[in-house]
Amino acid sequence: MARVGKSIIKGIEAKEVVRLLNKAYADEWLSFYQYYIEEKVVKGIMKDAAIAELAQHAQDELRHADMVAQRILQLGGTPLLNPKEWFVHSNCGYEEPKNFDILAILEDAIKGEQCAIRTYSELVELTRNKDIVTYDIVSQILADEVEHEEDLVALQEDITEFVKELKASMQKL
Ligand code: FE
Ligand code: FE
Ligand code: MG
Repeated sequence: MARVGKSIIKGIEAKEVVRLLNKAYADEWLSFYQYYIEEKVVKGIMKDAAIAELAQHAQDELRHADMVAQRILQLGGTPLLNPKEWFVHSNCGYEEPKNFDILAILEDAIKGEQCAIRTYSELVELTRNKDIVTYDIVSQILADEVEHEEDLVALQEDITEFVKELKASMQKL
């Protein structure tokens, strides 16, 4: 990698940053696929709102994978080359959708985002004042993951509230 570009990394090995970024890279691909397939199979009330949110998040996760891959290459590393390795290196794993009901799907997705937030906040702590470029990238991704969790929780609350009101108004009939 570029010599001056590398010389600005202090107090952490570029190799170690690459190792951690590859774990995050695996997470992003699994997370992309989880949203991709959830958006296809989700069922139930207010499904359209969920589909729009899940599709948007899928695109965001793919963009994150790209940001992480670019940084791995800049650091002289190689992004994981085989999807089989995603499962080996992932921090957050993959939550196979077993129940397609919208509330169950949202619950799985929220768990994934909470794991992503923990992972990226560790990366932010690790790179702070050491590798400013990676720090900037993982901070941007962290902000997106926080927004993702918030969007999903808000949607889950809206649906729960709507169902409650529906039940209440039906009891009045
Ligand atoms: Fe992500
Ligand atoms: Fe996310
Ligand atoms: Mg969103």
